[in-house]
Amino acid sequence: MIRITNMILAKNAYGILAIFLSICIFILSGCSSQEKKEPKMILSFYLDDTSPGIAGPEALKTFLDYCKANGIRGESTVVLGYDGESMAVEPDSIEKKFLEYAAKSYESGIDTHMEIMTHHELFDFEAGSIRESGIHEGLWLHEPDVAEEIYRAYFSNILEHGEKAGFRFTGFTWPGCGCEACSARYAELRAEGPLKFNPGVFDALLDLAMQDRFGTPVIPIFYESSETDYKIIQKAADGEYAVYDLMPNAEDQMGIWDNTTDRVDPDYYITEDGKSGIIMRHLEEGAPYCIWYMHWQGLNPENGVGWEAFKTVVERIEKHLSGRVVWMRPSDIVSGYHKAGGWDFVSEVD
Ligand SMILES: [Zn+2]
Ligand SMILES: [Zn+2]
Repeated sequence: MIRITNMILAKNAYGILAIFLSICIFILSGCSSQEKKEPKMILSFYLDDTSPGIAGPEALKTFLDYCKANGIRGESTVVLGYDGESMAVEPDSIEKKFLEYAAKSYESGIDTHMEIMTHHELFDFEAGSIRESGIHEGLWLHEPDVAEEIYRAYFSNILEHGEKAGFRFTGFTWPGCGCEACSARYAELRAEGPLKFNPGVFDALLDLAMQDRFGTPVIPIFYESSETDYKIIQKAADGEYAVYDLMPNAEDQMGIWDNTTDRVDPDYYITEDGKSGIIMRHLEEGAPYCIWYMHWQGLNPENGVGWEAFKTVVERIEKHLSGRVVWMRPSDIVSGYHKAGGWDFVSEVD
């Protein structure tokens, strides 16, 4: 009996010692991780196709107000010639309101990319309307025979219309197109090697940046994307001015351009328990950023099937990742990267 009691006591002593040691280890590890400042991962997004032809101006206001109130930063395109004419010239009452809100994007935390003027055929700036036929803008950026001056004049016109509309563009997005003519020509170009912009596009953008025509000296470009093979690539630079292809490493699960519930999945980004999803995956692999892309058709708060999912993702990020991530506009990401010559600037960002 006594022996048994002793054994129990001895066992308890070991147990208490083990608990004491684990508390010490817990406190020590807690202290050391506080001293070592963990680098934060950048969060951002590109939002394509934003125009009043898809949802009314109040939808844009709701989106921008939400971003501002929650400290969300990212990008939203403005397609000035979405209906064949420039919104900057004699806008109707809906367009006027839309532009009034779009002009508040930057102060709301949101960059404004040109997704080129029409997203379709080239715009005839002299006639003030879209060309009725001919090459689509996205494909035109890839044609090897277009001269840099032609691109520069075209981009310059878009910047001018932006300023007339009350804002300055801060970046550039490639408008995707799956029409028959584009698909056939893209296939031909791909057969000759990896698809790429005519280098004149980058030189023209740099040139205009150096004239301070953009809202930022360093221009982000949204070209292609990949969950695994993503990178930031300097395309042109001169002193403080530069052009960077900043690839998203997460896709659109907020309804895409079809505004379809089949492609709405907040868990793709971060699950309710905060344990998995692409944001967590990139965080765990030590990625400098997690940038995804979306489309105004699916995301807009008026009729987009992805709006609730977007808010859910933001709430989950706030709940599980506070202090581990930092929201940034794409233009601030490329500017920070260019100034620092790498990702070290992130530890300085709050
Ligand atoms: Zn688009
Ligand atoms: Zn096309």
